Amino acid sequence: MSNVRVRFCPSPTGSPHVGFARTALYNWVFARKAQGTFVLRIEDTDKERSTEESYRAMLDTMRWLGLDWDEGPEVGGPYGPYLQSERTDLYVDVLGKLRASSYTYDCFCTTEEVEARRKASGSKVQGYDGFCRELSAEQRSAFEAEGRKPVVRFRMPEGSVTWTDLVRGDITFETEFVPDYALCRANGDPLYTLVNPVDDALMGITHVLRGEDLLSSTPRQIPLHRALVELGVSDAVPEFGHLPFVMGEGNKKLSKRDPQAHLNMYRDEGFLPEGLLNYLALLGWAIAPDRDVFTIDEMVEAFDIKDVNPNPARFDPKKADAINAAHMRLLSIEEMTHRVLPFLKAAGVVGDPVHDSDAQLLELAMPLVAERINKLTEAPDMLGFLFVDEGEFTRDPADVEKLLDDAGRQVVQASHDALQDLPQWSTAAIQEALQAALVDGLGLKPRHAFGPVRVAITGRRVSPPLFESMELLGRDRSLGRLQSALR
Ligand code: GLU
Repeated sequence: MSNVRVRFCPSPTGSPHVGFARTALYNWVFARKAQGTFVLRIEDTDKERSTEESYRAMLDTMRWLGLDWDEGPEVGGPYGPYLQSERTDLYVDVLGKLRASSYTYDCFCTTEEVEARRKASGSKVQGYDGFCRELSAEQRSAFEAEGRKPVVRFRMPEGSVTWTDLVRGDITFETEFVPDYALCRANGDPLYTLVNPVDDALMGITHVLRGEDLLSSTPRQIPLHRALVELGVSDAVPEFGHLPFVMGEGNKKLSKRDPQAHLNMYRDEGFLPEGLLNYLALLGWAIAPDRDVFTIDEMVEAFDIKDVNPNPARFDPKKADAINAAHMRLLSIEEMTHRVLPFLKAAGVVGDPVHDSDAQLLELAMPLVAERINKLTEAPDMLGFLFVDEGEFTRDPADVEKLLDDAGRQVVQASHDALQDLPQWSTAAIQEALQAALVDGLGLKPRHAFGPVRVAITGRRVSPPLFESMELLGRDRSLGRLQSALR
């Protein structure tokens, strides 16, 4: 283990989305590459918006994606607790140290007073003007006599704050545009401005990788980190890297309101976690100019934060589909069977537990569909016709209308005639008989010949290979379906 320590620190508000997972992934990969520690911390200080449901969903999503954490909720670790709501004593303690130092000062101003002064001065800088920076003892007692309670403000240093961003290179902010900020409320409750950097300090975080939306808080946090090092709270100021925005349609930032931003959707739709991870990895990074498909291990091997592109990444659902399909092709038949089973059970295609005869049929059928399904949810549609009781077998009405018209029914009739006395019910024999009857006999093009038979047998125009399917379905059920298509 190296001494690299990174953290992912979501706020449990709402359902996990694309930006959430991309940030989690990059931190996880960074930690694994450096053989460091990946810390999960839950930033649940906003009591109104944080929910247990969101917290559960976040842990669940990270586990589904395989982004395991070395320290954090349900795992523990030497720097716990890992939920901010349980760390108040630690914040109060650090706040006490800051307050006793010259890095902060007590401020008695009301928001109205600050705003009135800003208007009067014509200043364009929003935020606090430093009025209470150098209060005399008399001024202070006068405020206290009025019953005012102070907030603690961080005293921004003069000049500028510069850091070498791991993604963006050197960044400088002039501190005249970064006002002194409050670290707690007047009742002493610590604010997020305090607790987020204090946790990074107390947890020994060495690298902060987070979204570009948080870039403007970094010039405030770096001087606070420096103060914490001076006060002996931590050893070093972390390095910072800001990951690019993710854009949705129409060049707008992908928003939590976009349905495609939510990760549950991909899981429900039958994405493989490795397919989704691969796609998320591409939102700001590439393994090579001409290569899109890779495994998470390959990403860990190749990842360098310096290669992350600072420009906004574009979210492209079609590409996500294609990457997922490529990962489906990488699964062995056994593995794919294992992955589709929950979807087959949920759709009622097989029972739970799976009946022995269904398990055998599935073993024979999976090789037929493995090359044709791009998402796990396509398996029930593709395979349902094999498992359904004859009494409950149905056909897609649109496909029936299109392919089982008069001409189609003639084809089905001819197929039935050709197959009913077939001596041996095998793929090759079925193919030969249908070829002879429909293509040679009726003079049909194969494309026209087999469509109606496919709809009659499987109920759909898109199905596993027809002759193999008929062999698996068996003679009686196949002939029965050809007949029922004629009614
Ligand atoms: N809790 C913050 C968020 O979910 C993350 C803050 C950070 O990474 O520093 O946006």
